[in-house]
Amino acid sequence: MLQYSKSNKYKSKRNAIVIGGGIGGIAAAIRVNALGYKTTLIERLSALGGRAQVFKKNGYIHDAGPTVLTAPFLFDELFTLLGTTREEHVDFRALDPWYSYYFHTGETFDYRAEVPDTLEEIRKFNFDDTKNYLRLLAASEKIFDVGFTELSSKPFNNLSTMILQTPNILRLGGYRTVSQFVNSYLKHPLLRKAFSIHPLLVGGNPFSTTSIYSLIHFLERKWGVHFCMGGTGNLIRSLYELMCQNQIDVVLETDIARLEVSDKIVKYAISSTGTKYEADLFISNIDPPTLFDEVLPYKRSPFNKILPDSLTTYSMGLFVLFFGTKKRYENIAHHTIWMGKRFKSLLTDIFKNKTLSDDFSLYLHRPTATDTSFAPKGNDSFYVLCPVPNLLASINWKVEGPKLSQRIIEALDKTIMPDLSKHYVDDFFMTPEDFRSDYRSTHGAGFSIAPSLTQSAWFRYHNHDSSYKNLFLVGAGTHPGAGMPGVLCSAKVIEELIINKNIH
Ligand SMILES: Cc1cc2nc3c(=O)[nH]c(=O)nc-3n(C[C@H](O)[C@H](O)[C@H](O)COP(=O)(O)OP(=O)(O)OC[C@H]3O[C@@H](n4cnc5c(N)ncnc54)[C@H](O)[C@@H]3O)c2cc1C
Repeated sequence: MLQYSKSNKYKSKRNAIVIGGGIGGIAAAIRVNALGYKTTLIERLSALGGRAQVFKKNGYIHDAGPTVLTAPFLFDELFTLLGTTREEHVDFRALDPWYSYYFHTGETFDYRAEVPDTLEEIRKFNFDDTKNYLRLLAASEKIFDVGFTELSSKPFNNLSTMILQTPNILRLGGYRTVSQFVNSYLKHPLLRKAFSIHPLLVGGNPFSTTSIYSLIHFLERKWGVHFCMGGTGNLIRSLYELMCQNQIDVVLETDIARLEVSDKIVKYAISSTGTKYEADLFISNIDPPTLFDEVLPYKRSPFNKILPDSLTTYSMGLFVLFFGTKKRYENIAHHTIWMGKRFKSLLTDIFKNKTLSDDFSLYLHRPTATDTSFAPKGNDSFYVLCPVPNLLASINWKVEGPKLSQRIIEALDKTIMPDLSKHYVDDFFMTPEDFRSDYRSTHGAGFSIAPSLTQSAWFRYHNHDSSYKNLFLVGAGTHPGAGMPGVLCSAKVIEELIINKNIH
């Protein structure tokens, strides 16, 4: 059990600088502040949240990034560290269904909050798969017990940790892909697709992501799928206010251009306008490839992330289309997965061939299904997320963006949202180029480096690089990985490292 500043044990007179105000950076700032550091968080954008920005246009409100909230206790812990409870500030609503699937065949499948309801839905496709799903869930729980409970908040900096855990990873079949894991249980081709999508939520191709990520099935079952009323942006806003009340300084619109290092100690963070920030401890929430390539004076040590840069693979890019509708589409659930005909070959086009196909699969967010404040009365607010190649592809987004946006509207109009072409308004979109320019994400990747086996655990960017004694790393590119639960856990990892290294 860690102890915080009130106990004096970890009371520190030192100061810490967190660079980047994504969810990982926010969690890190709250945790080191609670350890007693005088903490300053520096963010280049005009608001905190990183990918969890909020866009507003003519009365339509859009969370720009994360919307599916799992493992809520990880947020609850932050509110506790800020001296309050999460319930006093924000309302997390449990959703049901979690996701509604629409398949190219016109069939639908609701992934429900209760197992018996999910089995009822599975039965519509294949009776045998009801038993198979229960077996899949039991296998996912075994992976979860090790992958999440034991390892997600533990540092993976040392080879010895990796060696110690390798038998576990092998026993749980971590060398298999998520797709192989799912296919070894389920028989129906559409259910196989539906239950394989989880890696896409953290930037991986289900056909190459280690099956360790199959733990997400059980993680969702254990704590449910929630929505923060007022949106993820409201959650960030609440944390921001509490951070200010807890004397955490937040400096916005300040880009840290470089870190000045002497004798393996980071001395200053220097902004693009030349302001120098001095601290005893630095925590980076910058995308790690960007940190090592552009901000630090010398590249990562080979012991930080083992795979050489030339073999590093990145998560896919994201095309995100935002719009409102002048009517309500009551039949559309809060979270919809709209699946095109192609799956494996489409993902090969995105991840490997790096070509923009005419077809796609989509995730559709309709927050107004749960919270009508996201749109003017009687209207809906939507965002559509379409996985696309990252910027390692040569795609002219100025030309392709409007065309893709039109194809998406037409596909939805023809299927689950009749007459959408007539009713949509105030549309705009983000492409991988915006991810690169706004968040400084290398190659405009949606989720930093991909979650393959050779880029996970010890093989992922370490949370501490021994070349820089007082520099710690949090966020999607570091262990344990992308997604809100992952980046919140990365902040727990560095907290433990800071305490163990006795830096305070
Ligand atoms: C469209 C989309 C939907 C998603 N949906 C979900 C979901 O439903 N559920 C879920 O759990 N996860 C989801 N994710 C993933 C999740 O949002 C991310 O993995 C997570 O938020 C990343 O957090 P992070 O701490 O790595 O920081 P980031 O969000 O990457 O933020 C890093 C911050 O650092 C700042 N920064 C970078 N360089 C500098 C610098 N030099 N100086 C100052 N500041 C700098 C950037 O501006 C940015 O604000 C989604 C992601 C996207 C893009």
